[in-house]
Amino acid sequence: MQTQPTASHFIGGTYVEDTSGASLISTFPATGAEIAKLHCATDTITEQALSAADAARAQWRAMTGSERGRILRRAAEIIRERNHELSVLETMDTGKPLQETLIADAASGADCLEYFGSVAAGLTGDHIQLGADFAYTIREPLGLCVGIGAWNYPLQIACWKAAPALACGNTMVFKPSEMTPLTALKLAEILTEAGLPDGVFNVVQGLGDVGSRLVTDPRVDKVSLTGSVPTGRKVYAAAATGMKHVTMELGGKSPLIIFDDAHLEDAVSAAINGNFYSSGQICSNGTRVFVQKGILPAFLERLKARTENAVIGDPLDEATNFGPMVSQNQLDITLGYIEKGVNEGATLVTGGKAHANGGLFIEPTVFTDVTDEMSIAREEIFGPVMSVLSFDSEDEVLARANDTEFGLAAGVFTSDLTRAHRVVAGFEAGTCWINTYNLTPIEMPFGGVKASGVGRENAQAAIEHYSQLKSVYVGLSRVEAAF
Ligand code: NAD
Repeated sequence: MQTQPTASHFIGGTYVEDTSGASLISTFPATGAEIAKLHCATDTITEQALSAADAARAQWRAMTGSERGRILRRAAEIIRERNHELSVLETMDTGKPLQETLIADAASGADCLEYFGSVAAGLTGDHIQLGADFAYTIREPLGLCVGIGAWNYPLQIACWKAAPALACGNTMVFKPSEMTPLTALKLAEILTEAGLPDGVFNVVQGLGDVGSRLVTDPRVDKVSLTGSVPTGRKVYAAAATGMKHVTMELGGKSPLIIFDDAHLEDAVSAAINGNFYSSGQICSNGTRVFVQKGILPAFLERLKARTENAVIGDPLDEATNFGPMVSQNQLDITLGYIEKGVNEGATLVTGGKAHANGGLFIEPTVFTDVTDEMSIAREEIFGPVMSVLSFDSEDEVLARANDTEFGLAAGVFTSDLTRAHRVVAGFEAGTCWINTYNLTPIEMPFGGVKASGVGRENAQAAIEHYSQLKSVYVGLSRVEAAF
Protein backbone atom coordinates (compact mmCIF):
# COMPACT_ATOMS: atom_id res chain seq x y z
CA MET A 1 0.00 0.00 0.00
CA GLN A 2 1.17 3.50 -0.86
CA THR A 3 1.62 5.32 2.45
CA GLN A 4 3.79 8.22 1.24
CA PRO A 5 1.47 11.15 0.40
CA THR A 6 2.00 13.27 -2.71
CA ALA A 7 3.24 16.08 -0.48
CA SER A 8 3.17 17.14 3.18
CA HIS A 9 0.44 19.77 3.09
CA PHE A 10 -2.89 20.24 1.33
CA ILE A 11 -3.70 23.89 0.62
CA GLY A 12 -6.14 25.56 -1.76
CA GLY A 13 -7.37 22.25 -3.17
CA THR A 14 -3.96 20.75 -3.92
CA TYR A 15 -0.90 19.11 -2.39
CA VAL A 16 1.87 21.54 -1.50
CA GLU A 17 5.47 20.91 -0.45
CA ASP A 18 8.21 23.01 1.08
CA THR A 19 11.26 20.84 1.64
CA SER A 20 12.93 23.55 3.70
CA GLY A 21 10.64 22.58 6.62
CA ALA A 22 12.10 20.23 9.26
CA SER A 23 11.57 16.61 8.33
CA LEU A 24 8.71 14.69 9.90
CA ILE A 25 8.89 10.91 9.73
CA SER A 26 5.86 8.73 10.19
CA THR A 27 6.51 5.15 11.30
CA PHE A 28 4.43 1.99 11.69
CA PRO A 29 4.49 1.60 15.49
CA ALA A 30 4.35 -2.21 15.30
CA THR A 31 7.71 -2.48 13.53
CA GLY A 32 9.26 0.97 13.57
CA ALA A 33 9.36 0.92 9.75
CA GLU A 34 9.27 4.34 8.08
CA ILE A 35 6.00 4.74 6.17
CA ALA A 36 6.18 8.39 5.12
CA LYS A 37 8.62 11.26 5.09
CA LEU A 38 7.08 14.70 5.35
CA HIS A 39 8.11 18.25 6.22
CA CYS A 40 6.82 20.54 8.94
CA ALA A 41 5.13 23.71 7.74
CA THR A 42 7.42 26.67 7.32
CA ASP A 43 6.16 30.23 7.83
CA THR A 44 5.53 30.35 4.07
CA ILE A 45 3.30 27.27 4.26
CA THR A 46 1.23 28.43 7.25
CA GLU A 47 0.81 31.81 5.56
CA GLN A 48 -0.30 30.09 2.35
CA ALA A 49 -2.83 27.95 4.25
CA LEU A 50 -4.27 30.85 6.27
CA SER A 51 -4.51 33.03 3.14
CA ALA A 52 -6.26 30.24 1.24
CA ALA A 53 -8.77 29.71 4.07
CA ASP A 54 -9.28 33.46 4.40
CA ALA A 55 -9.86 33.91 0.68
CA ALA A 56 -12.33 31.01 0.51
CA ARG A 57 -14.63 32.39 3.23
CA ALA A 58 -16.86 34.56 1.06
CA GLN A 59 -17.69 31.94 -1.56
CA TRP A 60 -18.32 29.18 0.99
CA ARG A 61 -20.59 31.18 3.29
CA ALA A 62 -22.54 32.49 0.30
CA MET A 63 -23.57 28.96 -0.67
CA THR A 64 -26.83 27.59 0.71
CA GLY A 65 -26.84 25.08 3.53
CA SER A 66 -28.18 22.44 1.13
CA GLU A 67 -25.29 22.98 -1.25
CA ARG A 68 -22.74 22.75 1.53
CA GLY A 69 -24.45 19.73 3.03
CA ARG A 70 -24.50 17.85 -0.27
CA ILE A 71 -20.71 18.10 -0.51
CA LEU A 72 -20.23 16.82 3.04
CA ARG A 73 -22.59 13.89 2.45
CA ARG A 74 -20.79 13.02 -0.79
CA ALA A 75 -17.50 13.00 1.14
CA ALA A 76 -19.11 10.63 3.68
CA GLU A 77 -20.02 8.25 0.86
CA ILE A 78 -16.48 8.31 -0.56
CA ILE A 79 -15.03 7.59 2.88
CA ARG A 80 -17.34 4.60 3.28
CA GLU A 81 -16.37 3.27 -0.17
CA ARG A 82 -12.69 3.57 0.79
CA ASN A 83 -13.10 2.38 4.35
CA HIS A 84 -10.67 -0.51 3.98
CA GLU A 85 -7.87 1.53 2.43
CA LEU A 86 -8.31 4.36 4.95
CA SER A 87 -8.42 1.90 7.85
CA VAL A 88 -5.17 0.25 6.76
CA LEU A 89 -3.52 3.67 6.52
CA GLU A 90 -4.84 4.64 9.97
CA THR A 91 -3.57 1.35 11.42
CA MET A 92 -0.13 1.93 9.91
CA ASP A 93 0.04 5.49 11.20
CA THR A 94 -1.27 4.80 14.74
CA GLY A 95 -0.58 1.08 15.33
CA LYS A 96 -4.22 0.52 16.32
CA PRO A 97 -5.53 -2.91 15.30
CA LEU A 98 -7.23 -3.09 11.92
CA GLN A 99 -10.03 -4.90 13.75
CA GLU A 100 -10.73 -1.52 15.42
CA THR A 101 -9.97 0.94 12.64
CA LEU A 102 -12.24 -0.93 10.21
CA ILE A 103 -15.25 -0.10 12.36
CA ALA A 104 -14.32 2.89 14.50
CA ASP A 105 -12.22 5.46 12.65
CA ALA A 106 -13.10 6.24 9.03
CA ALA A 107 -16.61 4.93 9.74
CA SER A 108 -17.24 7.41 12.56
CA GLY A 109 -15.73 10.17 10.42
CA ALA A 110 -18.22 9.33 7.68
CA ASP A 111 -21.08 9.33 10.20
CA CYS A 112 -20.01 12.80 11.26
CA LEU A 113 -19.85 14.19 7.70
CA GLU A 114 -23.22 12.64 6.97
CA TYR A 115 -24.77 14.03 10.15
CA PHE A 116 -23.58 17.62 9.66
CA GLY A 117 -24.18 17.32 5.91
CA SER A 118 -27.82 16.65 6.79
CA VAL A 119 -28.02 19.37 9.44
CA ALA A 120 -26.56 22.10 7.17
CA ALA A 121 -29.77 22.75 5.23
CA GLY A 122 -31.78 23.18 8.43
CA LEU A 123 -29.62 25.85 10.07
CA THR A 124 -31.73 28.90 10.77
CA GLY A 125 -32.16 31.86 13.05
CA ASP A 126 -35.33 32.75 14.95
CA HIS A 127 -38.21 35.17 14.57
CA ILE A 128 -39.10 37.04 17.78
CA GLN A 129 -42.36 39.00 17.85
CA LEU A 130 -42.12 42.20 19.93
CA GLY A 131 -45.64 43.63 19.91
CA ALA A 132 -45.92 45.57 16.67
CA ASP A 133 -42.18 45.31 16.07
CA PHE A 134 -40.18 42.14 15.69
CA ALA A 135 -36.64 40.89 15.79
CA TYR A 136 -34.91 38.08 14.04
CA THR A 137 -31.59 36.33 14.39
CA ILE A 138 -29.22 35.34 11.61
CA ARG A 139 -27.04 32.30 12.25
CA GLU A 140 -23.65 33.23 10.84
CA PRO A 141 -20.41 31.29 10.57
CA LEU A 142 -17.58 32.33 12.92
CA GLY A 143 -15.16 32.67 9.99
CA LEU A 144 -11.75 31.05 9.80
CA CYS A 145 -11.34 28.10 12.17
CA VAL A 146 -8.17 26.29 13.20
CA GLY A 147 -8.42 22.61 14.14
CA ILE A 148 -5.57 20.87 16.00
CA GLY A 149 -5.66 17.13 16.53
CA ALA A 150 -4.28 14.45 18.88
CA TRP A 151 -2.79 11.19 17.56
CA ASN A 152 -5.20 8.60 18.86
CA TYR A 153 -8.10 9.12 16.41
CA PRO A 154 -6.53 11.19 13.61
CA LEU A 155 -9.20 10.87 10.91
CA GLN A 156 -12.12 10.90 13.33
CA ILE A 157 -10.82 14.05 15.06
CA ALA A 158 -10.30 15.79 11.69
CA CYS A 159 -13.92 14.96 10.74
CA TRP A 160 -15.34 15.90 14.16
CA LYS A 161 -13.86 19.38 13.68
CA ALA A 162 -14.21 19.89 9.91
CA ALA A 163 -17.79 18.66 9.45
CA PRO A 164 -19.62 21.01 11.86
CA ALA A 165 -17.30 23.91 10.96
CA LEU A 166 -17.91 23.53 7.23
CA ALA A 167 -21.64 22.85 7.65
CA CYS A 168 -21.96 26.26 9.35
CA GLY A 169 -20.10 28.00 6.52
CA ASN A 170 -16.66 28.37 8.12
CA THR A 171 -13.33 27.56 6.50
CA MET A 172 -10.58 25.61 8.28
CA VAL A 173 -6.87 25.07 8.56
CA PHE A 174 -6.30 21.72 10.28
CA LYS A 175 -3.05 20.56 11.85
CA PRO A 176 -2.95 16.86 12.65
CA SER A 177 -0.71 15.54 15.40
CA GLU A 178 2.90 15.26 14.29
CA MET A 179 2.71 11.58 15.31
CA THR A 180 -0.06 10.75 12.84
CA PRO A 181 -0.03 13.11 9.85
CA LEU A 182 -1.46 10.94 7.08
CA THR A 183 -5.23 10.50 7.16
CA ALA A 184 -6.14 14.19 7.52
CA LEU A 185 -4.54 14.64 4.09
CA LYS A 186 -6.86 11.93 2.77
CA LEU A 187 -9.83 13.80 4.20
CA ALA A 188 -8.74 16.96 2.37
CA GLU A 189 -8.36 14.98 -0.87
CA ILE A 190 -11.79 13.38 -0.46
CA LEU A 191 -13.54 16.67 0.35
CA THR A 192 -12.03 18.19 -2.80
CA GLU A 193 -13.18 15.20 -4.82
CA ALA A 194 -16.65 15.65 -3.33
CA GLY A 195 -16.78 19.20 -4.67
CA LEU A 196 -15.48 21.36 -1.83
CA PRO A 197 -14.28 24.71 -3.17
CA ASP A 198 -10.51 25.18 -2.99
CA GLY A 199 -9.22 26.67 0.26
CA VAL A 200 -12.21 25.74 2.43
CA PHE A 201 -10.36 22.88 4.17
CA ASN A 202 -6.56 22.92 4.36
CA VAL A 203 -4.08 20.68 6.14
CA VAL A 204 -0.64 21.69 7.37
CA GLN A 205 1.86 19.51 9.22
CA GLY A 206 4.05 20.25 12.17
CA LEU A 207 4.63 20.29 15.92
CA GLY A 208 3.33 22.61 18.60
CA ASP A 209 5.13 25.64 17.15
CA VAL A 210 3.12 25.34 13.93
CA GLY A 211 -0.09 24.99 15.97
CA SER A 212 0.90 28.03 17.97
CA ARG A 213 1.49 30.12 14.81
CA LEU A 214 -1.98 29.22 13.59
CA VAL A 215 -3.68 29.96 16.91
CA THR A 216 -2.16 33.43 17.26
CA ASP A 217 -2.87 34.62 13.70
CA PRO A 218 -5.28 37.56 13.78
CA ARG A 219 -7.31 36.21 10.84
CA VAL A 220 -8.35 33.20 12.92
CA ASP A 221 -11.75 33.40 14.64
CA LYS A 222 -11.95 30.04 16.38
CA VAL A 223 -9.63 27.32 17.64
CA SER A 224 -10.68 23.75 18.32
CA LEU A 225 -8.06 21.60 20.04
CA THR A 226 -8.03 17.93 20.93
CA GLY A 227 -5.06 17.28 23.17
CA SER A 228 -3.72 17.20 26.69
CA VAL A 229 -4.65 19.57 29.51
CA PRO A 230 -1.22 21.33 29.54
CA THR A 231 -1.49 22.03 25.79
CA GLY A 232 -5.10 23.10 26.28
CA ARG A 233 -4.09 25.70 28.86
CA LYS A 234 -1.53 27.21 26.45
CA VAL A 235 -3.84 27.23 23.44
CA TYR A 236 -6.79 28.59 25.45
CA ALA A 237 -4.61 31.41 26.80
CA ALA A 238 -3.31 32.30 23.32
CA ALA A 239 -6.83 32.26 21.90
CA ALA A 240 -8.10 34.45 24.75
CA THR A 241 -5.56 37.15 23.89
CA GLY A 242 -7.14 37.41 20.46
CA MET A 243 -10.69 37.01 21.91
CA LYS A 244 -11.19 33.92 19.74
CA HIS A 245 -13.83 31.24 20.24
CA VAL A 246 -12.52 27.89 21.51
CA THR A 247 -13.46 24.26 21.82
CA MET A 248 -11.12 22.30 24.10
CA GLU A 249 -11.33 18.50 24.09
CA LEU A 250 -8.73 17.55 26.66
CA GLY A 251 -7.61 14.71 28.89
CA GLY A 252 -9.32 12.80 31.67
CA LYS A 253 -9.08 10.32 34.53
CA SER A 254 -12.64 9.12 34.40
CA PRO A 255 -14.41 6.96 36.99
CA LEU A 256 -16.35 3.80 36.19
CA ILE A 257 -18.45 2.73 39.19
CA ILE A 258 -19.62 -0.87 39.47
CA PHE A 259 -22.19 -1.67 42.15
CA ASP A 260 -22.75 -5.13 43.65
CA ASP A 261 -25.99 -5.56 41.66
CA ALA A 262 -24.33 -4.92 38.28
CA HIS A 263 -24.37 -7.49 35.49
CA LEU A 264 -20.92 -8.98 36.07
CA GLU A 265 -19.92 -9.88 32.51
CA ASP A 266 -21.22 -6.58 31.11
CA ALA A 267 -19.31 -4.64 33.76
CA VAL A 268 -16.12 -6.55 32.96
CA SER A 269 -16.67 -5.92 29.22
CA ALA A 270 -17.11 -2.20 29.88
CA ALA A 271 -13.96 -2.06 32.01
CA ILE A 272 -12.03 -3.81 29.23
CA ASN A 273 -13.45 -1.54 26.50
CA GLY A 274 -12.93 1.50 28.68
CA ASN A 275 -9.26 0.73 29.37
CA PHE A 276 -7.76 -1.41 26.65
CA TYR A 277 -9.38 -0.36 23.35
CA SER A 278 -6.73 1.44 21.24
CA SER A 279 -4.17 0.11 23.76
CA GLY A 280 -5.64 2.44 26.35
CA GLN A 281 -4.96 5.59 24.33
CA ILE A 282 -8.45 7.09 24.65
CA CYS A 283 -9.25 10.34 26.44
CA SER A 284 -12.57 9.22 27.94
CA ASN A 285 -11.28 5.92 29.33
CA GLY A 286 -12.68 4.84 32.69
CA THR A 287 -9.27 4.28 34.23
CA ARG A 288 -10.47 4.47 37.83
CA VAL A 289 -12.70 1.43 38.19
CA PHE A 290 -14.51 1.63 41.55
CA VAL A 291 -15.92 -1.80 42.43
CA GLN A 292 -18.26 -2.36 45.40
CA LYS A 293 -16.75 -4.80 47.88
CA GLY A 294 -19.37 -7.55 47.47
CA ILE A 295 -18.66 -8.08 43.77
CA LEU A 296 -14.93 -7.34 43.86
CA PRO A 297 -13.51 -10.91 44.04
CA ALA A 298 -15.73 -12.18 41.21
CA PHE A 299 -15.03 -9.05 39.15
CA LEU A 300 -11.26 -9.41 39.50
CA GLU A 301 -11.34 -13.10 38.64
CA ARG A 302 -13.29 -12.56 35.41
CA LEU A 303 -11.32 -9.43 34.53
CA LYS A 304 -7.99 -11.22 34.88
CA ALA A 305 -9.12 -14.25 32.87
CA ARG A 306 -10.57 -12.16 30.05
CA THR A 307 -7.70 -9.66 29.93
CA GLU A 308 -5.25 -12.50 29.55
CA ASN A 309 -7.19 -13.56 26.45
CA ALA A 310 -6.16 -10.41 24.57
CA VAL A 311 -4.66 -11.20 21.17
CA ILE A 312 -1.52 -9.05 21.06
CA GLY A 313 0.35 -8.84 17.78
CA ASP A 314 0.52 -7.43 14.27
CA PRO A 315 -2.21 -4.78 14.10
CA LEU A 316 -2.69 -5.49 10.39
CA ASP A 317 -3.81 -9.03 11.25
CA GLU A 318 -7.56 -8.82 11.80
CA ALA A 319 -7.35 -11.42 14.57
CA THR A 320 -5.28 -9.00 16.68
CA ASN A 321 -7.31 -7.02 19.20
CA PHE A 322 -4.53 -5.29 21.11
CA GLY A 323 -1.78 -3.36 19.30
CA PRO A 324 1.37 -1.44 20.22
CA MET A 325 1.65 2.01 21.78
CA VAL A 326 1.90 4.86 19.29
CA SER A 327 5.47 5.84 20.22
CA GLN A 328 8.49 5.05 22.38
CA ASN A 329 7.64 8.11 24.46
CA GLN A 330 4.12 6.85 25.21
CA LEU A 331 5.51 3.39 26.02
CA ASP A 332 8.05 4.89 28.44
CA ILE A 333 5.39 7.05 30.13
CA THR A 334 3.15 4.01 30.60
CA LEU A 335 5.93 1.76 31.94
CA GLY A 336 6.93 4.60 34.28
CA TYR A 337 3.40 4.70 35.72
CA ILE A 338 3.35 0.92 36.15
CA GLU A 339 6.56 1.19 38.16
CA LYS A 340 5.02 3.96 40.27
CA GLY A 341 1.93 1.81 40.87
CA VAL A 342 4.07 -1.02 42.21
CA ASN A 343 6.26 1.32 44.28
CA GLU A 344 3.25 3.11 45.79
CA GLY A 345 1.78 -0.20 46.98
CA ALA A 346 -0.83 -1.26 44.41
CA THR A 347 -1.15 -4.99 43.62
CA LEU A 348 -0.66 -6.21 40.05
CA VAL A 349 -3.50 -8.48 38.93
CA THR A 350 -2.17 -9.04 35.43
CA GLY A 351 0.26 -7.51 32.93
CA GLY A 352 2.79 -4.95 34.10
CA LYS A 353 5.54 -5.44 31.56
CA ALA A 354 6.61 -4.60 28.06
CA HIS A 355 5.33 -7.50 25.93
CA ALA A 356 7.60 -10.32 24.81
CA ASN A 357 7.00 -9.19 21.19
CA GLY A 358 9.38 -6.32 21.93
CA GLY A 359 8.95 -3.04 20.06
CA LEU A 360 6.30 -0.75 21.44
CA PHE A 361 4.05 -3.50 22.78
CA ILE A 362 3.00 -3.51 26.41
CA GLU A 363 0.77 -5.96 28.28
CA PRO A 364 -2.74 -4.84 29.23
CA THR A 365 -2.27 -4.14 32.93
CA VAL A 366 -4.67 -4.26 35.89
CA PHE A 367 -3.85 -3.04 39.39
CA THR A 368 -6.01 -3.64 42.45
CA ASP A 369 -5.74 -2.30 46.02
CA VAL A 370 -5.35 1.12 44.43
CA THR A 371 -6.01 4.09 46.73
CA ASP A 372 -7.18 7.56 45.76
CA GLU A 373 -3.81 9.21 46.46
CA MET A 374 -1.69 6.99 44.21
CA SER A 375 -0.25 8.51 41.04
CA ILE A 376 -1.95 5.86 38.90
CA ALA A 377 -5.31 6.94 40.33
CA ARG A 378 -4.75 10.68 39.94
CA GLU A 379 -2.86 11.27 36.69
CA GLU A 380 -3.80 10.54 33.10
CA ILE A 381 -1.54 7.75 31.80
CA PHE A 382 -2.94 7.34 28.27
CA GLY A 383 -1.87 3.72 28.19
CA PRO A 384 -3.38 0.31 29.04
CA VAL A 385 -3.30 0.58 32.83
CA MET A 386 -6.51 -0.01 34.78
CA SER A 387 -6.75 0.91 38.46
CA VAL A 388 -9.33 -1.01 40.49
CA LEU A 389 -10.42 0.69 43.72
CA SER A 390 -12.94 -0.76 46.17
CA PHE A 391 -15.82 1.05 47.90
CA ASP A 392 -18.66 0.50 50.37
CA SER A 393 -21.39 3.11 49.82
CA GLU A 394 -22.88 5.25 47.08
CA ASP A 395 -22.20 8.59 48.79
CA GLU A 396 -18.61 7.63 49.48
CA VAL A 397 -17.88 6.49 45.92
CA LEU A 398 -19.48 9.51 44.28
CA ALA A 399 -17.38 11.89 46.37
CA ARG A 400 -14.24 9.94 45.50
CA ALA A 401 -15.16 9.73 41.81
CA ASN A 402 -15.52 13.52 41.65
CA ASP A 403 -12.34 14.25 43.59
CA THR A 404 -10.23 15.04 40.50
CA GLU A 405 -9.31 18.08 38.42
CA PHE A 406 -10.68 16.26 35.35
CA GLY A 407 -14.31 15.90 34.26
CA LEU A 408 -14.41 14.35 30.83
CA ALA A 409 -16.50 11.21 31.33
CA ALA A 410 -17.97 8.82 33.91
CA GLY A 411 -19.90 5.56 33.98
CA VAL A 412 -22.04 3.55 36.36
CA PHE A 413 -23.12 -0.10 36.33
CA THR A 414 -26.11 -1.10 38.45
CA SER A 415 -29.45 -2.82 37.95
CA ASP A 416 -31.10 -0.20 40.19
CA LEU A 417 -32.50 2.35 37.73
CA THR A 418 -33.13 5.00 40.38
CA ARG A 419 -29.60 4.76 41.68
CA ALA A 420 -28.15 4.91 38.16
CA HIS A 421 -29.83 8.24 37.43
CA ARG A 422 -29.03 9.59 40.90
CA VAL A 423 -25.34 8.77 40.48
CA VAL A 424 -25.20 10.27 36.98
CA ALA A 425 -26.84 13.45 38.27
CA GLY A 426 -24.05 13.67 40.83
CA PHE A 427 -21.16 13.09 38.43
CA GLU A 428 -18.97 16.10 37.65
CA ALA A 429 -18.39 14.98 34.06
CA GLY A 430 -19.47 16.08 30.60
CA THR A 431 -20.24 12.66 29.12
CA CYS A 432 -21.78 9.83 31.16
CA TRP A 433 -22.86 6.25 30.54
CA ILE A 434 -25.27 3.97 32.37
CA ASN A 435 -24.63 0.22 31.98
CA THR A 436 -22.27 0.76 29.04
CA TYR A 437 -19.07 2.68 28.44
CA ASN A 438 -17.24 4.76 25.80
CA LEU A 439 -19.99 4.83 23.19
CA THR A 440 -19.81 8.18 21.38
CA PRO A 441 -22.39 8.24 18.58
CA ILE A 442 -22.43 11.37 16.46
CA GLU A 443 -26.01 12.10 17.60
CA MET A 444 -24.84 12.63 21.23
CA PRO A 445 -22.86 15.70 22.38
CA PHE A 446 -19.35 14.87 23.60
CA GLY A 447 -17.03 16.91 25.79
CA GLY A 448 -15.76 17.61 29.27
CA VAL A 449 -16.12 19.88 32.29
CA LYS A 450 -13.51 21.17 34.77
CA ALA A 451 -9.96 20.81 33.36
CA SER A 452 -11.14 18.36 30.69
CA GLY A 453 -12.44 21.00 28.37
CA VAL A 454 -14.71 23.71 27.11
CA GLY A 455 -17.50 23.30 24.58
CA ARG A 456 -19.01 20.22 22.97
CA GLU A 457 -18.37 18.28 19.79
CA ASN A 458 -20.95 16.29 17.84
CA ALA A 459 -24.74 16.55 17.65
CA GLN A 460 -26.70 19.79 17.44
CA ALA A 461 -24.59 21.15 20.31
CA ALA A 462 -21.56 21.50 18.01
CA ILE A 463 -23.49 23.96 15.83
CA GLU A 464 -23.52 26.41 18.74
CA HIS A 465 -19.71 26.26 18.81
CA TYR A 466 -19.20 26.92 15.09
CA SER A 467 -21.78 29.67 14.51
CA GLN A 468 -22.92 32.87 16.12
CA LEU A 469 -26.16 34.79 16.14
CA LYS A 470 -26.64 38.26 14.76
CA SER A 471 -29.73 39.92 16.27
CA VAL A 472 -31.76 42.30 14.13
CA TYR A 473 -34.47 44.52 15.65
CA VAL A 474 -36.99 45.65 13.06
CA GLY A 475 -38.86 48.80 14.02
CA LEU A 476 -42.30 49.15 12.45
CA SER A 477 -43.54 52.02 14.67
CA ARG A 478 -42.72 55.71 14.78
CA VAL A 479 -39.48 56.53 16.65
CA GLU A 480 -39.97 58.60 19.83
CA ALA A 481 -37.20 60.59 21.54
CA ALA A 482 -37.03 62.51 24.84
CA PHE A 483 -36.23 65.77 23.08
P1 NAD B 1 -0.79 17.02 22.96
O1 NAD B 1 -1.44 17.98 23.87
O2 NAD B 1 0.62 16.70 23.17
O3 NAD B 1 -0.90 17.50 21.44
C1 NAD B 1 -2.14 17.77 20.83
C2 NAD B 1 -1.95 18.64 19.61
O4 NAD B 1 -1.59 19.96 20.02
C3 NAD B 1 -0.83 18.18 18.66
O5 NAD B 1 -1.26 18.34 17.34
C4 NAD B 1 0.31 19.12 19.00
O6 NAD B 1 1.21 19.32 17.94
C5 NAD B 1 -0.45 20.40 19.30
N1 NAD B 1 0.24 21.37 20.14
C6 NAD B 1 1.15 21.14 21.11
N2 NAD B 1 1.53 22.32 21.67
C7 NAD B 1 0.85 23.29 21.05
C8 NAD B 1 0.79 24.71 21.20
N3 NAD B 1 1.52 25.35 22.11
N4 NAD B 1 -0.03 25.41 20.39
C9 NAD B 1 -0.81 24.78 19.49
N5 NAD B 1 -0.79 23.45 19.30
C10 NAD B 1 0.01 22.70 20.08
O7 NAD B 1 -1.71 15.71 23.02
P2 NAD B 1 -1.43 14.27 22.37
O8 NAD B 1 -0.32 13.65 23.15
O9 NAD B 1 -1.33 14.38 20.91
O10 NAD B 1 -2.80 13.51 22.69
C11 NAD B 1 -3.07 12.92 23.92
C12 NAD B 1 -3.92 13.83 24.77
O11 NAD B 1 -5.08 14.22 24.05
C13 NAD B 1 -4.42 13.14 26.02
O12 NAD B 1 -4.35 14.01 27.11
C14 NAD B 1 -5.86 12.81 25.68
O13 NAD B 1 -6.70 12.66 26.79
C15 NAD B 1 -6.24 13.98 24.83
N6 NAD B 1 -7.39 13.65 23.99
C16 NAD B 1 -8.60 14.23 24.25
C17 NAD B 1 -9.72 13.91 23.50
C18 NAD B 1 -11.07 14.51 23.78
O14 NAD B 1 -11.92 14.48 22.90
N7 NAD B 1 -11.33 15.07 24.95
C19 NAD B 1 -9.59 13.00 22.44
C20 NAD B 1 -8.35 12.44 22.18
C21 NAD B 1 -7.25 12.78 22.96
